[in-house]
Amino acid sequence: MRYLWKCSACGFVYEGEDAPEKCPKCEAPKEKFSRLSEEDAKKIYVSDRTNDIHMEIVTLAMRIEVLAKEGIELNLDPPCVQLFNKAKDEAWIIKQRSKAEIEAHLGKGKW
Ligand SMILES: [Zn+2]
Repeated sequence: MRYLWKCSACGFVYEGEDAPEKCPKCEAPKEKFSRLSEEDAKKIYVSDRTNDIHMEIVTLAMRIEVLAKEGIELNLDPPCVQLFNKAKDEAWIIKQRSKAEIEAHLGKGKW
């Protein structure tokens, strides 16, 4: 049976039958790990993919920002530059919205 184990020193979550000999992140000894309750483990498993999707959205929004900046620098004509500026601003909003949601998930134990 696999369980989730949390390092009390750094918060790293390990999956396995038993806690690791030392934390893969901070190298704290096995004694620093405690087994998560079924309820807390479930929160982590169900939010895992959702958080990955948010991170991918952040990455895509960063790509939009880079493209928009390139379009602004090319400066073909005012309407085009205006659209790129708008895309850059909207990408920022999309990125920050997902980051804020990830932060909220972490605060609720949804990793
Ligand atoms: Zn640790």
